[in-house]
Amino acid sequence: MSGVNVLNRERNLIVNPLKTCQPLGAMYATIGVRRGIPLVHGSQGCSSFVRYHLARHFREPVEIAVSSLHEAAAVFGGRKNINSSIKNIAIRYRPDLIGAITTCSSEIIGDDVFGFVDTTNKELKQMSEENEEYKGLEDIKVIPIPTPSFVGTHYSGYGVAINSMIQTVTQANEDDNSKVNIIPGLLNPGDVKELKHIMDTLSISYTMLTDVSEAFDAPIRPSKQERPFFPKGGVTIDEITNASASRGTISICKYAKLGAETLEKSHDVPAITDDLPPIGIKGTDQFLRNLQTLTDCEIPEAILDERGLLIDLMADVSARYLFGRKVAIFGDPTQVTGLARFVSELGMESVMVCTGADEKSFPTDMEIVAKEANSNIDVLMEQDLRSVENYVKENEIDVLMGNSDGRFINYETKIPLIRFGYPVYDRVGYHSQPIVGYRGAKRVAEMITNEVLERYYDEKHWKLQQ
Ligand code: SF4
Repeated sequence: MSGVNVLNRERNLIVNPLKTCQPLGAMYATIGVRRGIPLVHGSQGCSSFVRYHLARHFREPVEIAVSSLHEAAAVFGGRKNINSSIKNIAIRYRPDLIGAITTCSSEIIGDDVFGFVDTTNKELKQMSEENEEYKGLEDIKVIPIPTPSFVGTHYSGYGVAINSMIQTVTQANEDDNSKVNIIPGLLNPGDVKELKHIMDTLSISYTMLTDVSEAFDAPIRPSKQERPFFPKGGVTIDEITNASASRGTISICKYAKLGAETLEKSHDVPAITDDLPPIGIKGTDQFLRNLQTLTDCEIPEAILDERGLLIDLMADVSARYLFGRKVAIFGDPTQVTGLARFVSELGMESVMVCTGADEKSFPTDMEIVAKEANSNIDVLMEQDLRSVENYVKENEIDVLMGNSDGRFINYETKIPLIRFGYPVYDRVGYHSQPIVGYRGAKRVAEMITNEVLERYYDEKHWKLQQ
């Protein structure tokens, strides 16, 4: 019998968490807007630790503002802080969008951030009308993003931010711009670039809601820019405004599908939210089918060749090196589901999957993977790295897949760790390479095979000589 065995955490204590708080996801989404600045309405640590972690993973500087709540604000409220922060950013940076992101502290003291933003918007308008120097300030989109951290995770925070942007910025538009909206989720720049490559090769116009591919993977070049630095790329306000004129929205991740549903409910833009991600053969095939449904596009030779190259590699390595090897995967629920499906396609066995997220669709999606592979999969829901560690020590596992935080398990058990997702800070280049699409799957298959060869085959082994 195939199926999943859902294992919930029995401890109240979390040891080495596999999640962080909602504001991180909201910051991630806001940085994917061209000339967008996240403003964290909380204490300085709420932004500085995120900046540190993002810089460690992407090795890029990240602009994140903070309203710097202190004791006085905890007693009297943070209206002054957020009001002066928005005005400061507006005057000094002239961004296109400010995401006013709430935190534990601002939510617990009961700050009415929606009301504060409304008042500040009126003040910006007045300043703009009264003083030539401030002209244009009223055009800046200031978006309240409610992300209290006593609920949810950074995954749900990303979803809240995308939905807030759509609710606040997107306007009714009866035109058909022939575009497809894509909500990528917390994917790396390399993945977003791969999705864009697929869309470009299919000659489909798209709006990436939102697009971190250049903000988090930017070239260093001499600049003569006088205004404060904004990274290249990102989705424009105009594109978000007109997302209502698209043919449809594909949400790659389930944790941000609310944005796609809002576009469907409010603007009749069909939403495709239920499929597994475009990782591996089946996932990418389905993604292409969805694009065909929305746009009637043809699949070009170049994409068929990419698929063929992946199949060729799978034929080379699956039976010889990978078949039957047991795999444990932890991390982002969407990426874990896609990778679990792909390792099954490679002839390996997804034995255990784990996420720190409270993503309700995770076991259901894993059920699909288990049925397709005719296997049993242990699904660790809302669990931590201690649970992963205990599991791999108590069960026979050949390959571990997850982020850099799994390195100590790898060190202790010698089980090879294939790094993916966020954060990967003890290797370079991972954020700029894809796991999605046929080319991403090929890269994943190569990484797994090379680690298996390294760990399980003697250099003089006869199978390597063939
Ligand atoms: S958990 Fe709360 S206090 Fe800590 S960083 Fe997140 S928002 Fe700030």
